[in-house]
Amino acid sequence: MPISDDNDLVVARPQGLYCPPGDFYIDPWRPVSHALITHAHGDHLRPGHGHYLAAAPGAGVLRARVGDVPLQALPYGERITHRGVTVSFHPAGHVLGSAQIRLEHAGRTWVVSGDYKTGPDPTCPPFEPVRCDTFITESTFGLPVFRWKPQQAVFAEIDAWWRANAAAGRTSVLYAYSFGKAQRVLAGIDPSTGPIVVHGAMTALNDAYRQAGVALPPTRLVSETDPADLKRALVMAPPSAQGSPWLKRFGDFSDAFASGWMQLRGTRRRRGLDRGFVLSDHADWPGLLEAVAATGAPRVIVTHGYVDPLVRYFAEQGLDAGAFRTEYGDEAAGDPEAAA
Ligand SMILES: [Zn+2]
Ligand SMILES: [Zn+2]
Repeated sequence: MPISDDNDLVVARPQGLYCPPGDFYIDPWRPVSHALITHAHGDHLRPGHGHYLAAAPGAGVLRARVGDVPLQALPYGERITHRGVTVSFHPAGHVLGSAQIRLEHAGRTWVVSGDYKTGPDPTCPPFEPVRCDTFITESTFGLPVFRWKPQQAVFAEIDAWWRANAAAGRTSVLYAYSFGKAQRVLAGIDPSTGPIVVHGAMTALNDAYRQAGVALPPTRLVSETDPADLKRALVMAPPSAQGSPWLKRFGDFSDAFASGWMQLRGTRRRRGLDRGFVLSDHADWPGLLEAVAATGAPRVIVTHGYVDPLVRYFAEQGLDAGAFRTEYGDEAAGDPEAAA
């Protein structure tokens, strides 16, 4: 834990990360009057705040998740000043509308990353490095074992699995987190293989992506699909659907999970899945190091994930490294895999 300093632009409070001169919070987990939101995953976006400020491209997904809250939406890169603190949102490359929040006050510049990834994603603009004095980073996959393949290789694996199942007359059921991962998979796979069926839990978010101008292939609900077509369909469902009666209608199916956690030996087997595809919306180990280096920040504060290894690594590199205790990183209670 870094010692809190009167000079710090962001400090940890029981309600969440707090900016003292601006008198606002970033991704607070308890209700506050002014909340700046990095992105609309449940551990970063909570209901009940007085005012919300978020990046404009994320307005639709934010409302799809918490309803019609009082929201000010700021285009990426546009600056506003609140009580002398200059605030701007910069692409984090994590999910639609995700942002790093840049704060500047009295000659100091801090950036709060929320969640981010450095690899490409057709559903949101790429991570943009922002120079700063202090960078507050996530560490969901902050261990050297986590290294992602090029996403095209992963989509090719998914396509091959789907084609083989379709040829055998077997439904392909792919579990993916409903916000972010599902849309990224939809945008990346080859829709000519067969019909794409989505679980009802995904429709509102798919619609919000389409309304924001993200191209997704046509999808339908099970109820709109001829049962004979299900044999060559790709069915996208949230991880919570695994083992549920909803799956019974598919008869013979193969199931798989798209998640960064699939890189850990044993995770797929423990979940009783036929396949695991390693695909994450978080930075891998090289991505975290690259992102931090690109900020030029001499000080780094880690919020969630594998906090200790990343803090230790940066301290060894001569950075002023510490951690904040937060309530991030539990996007789906009891199912940490879903958050990745
Ligand atoms: Zn997230
Ligand atoms: Zn997170």
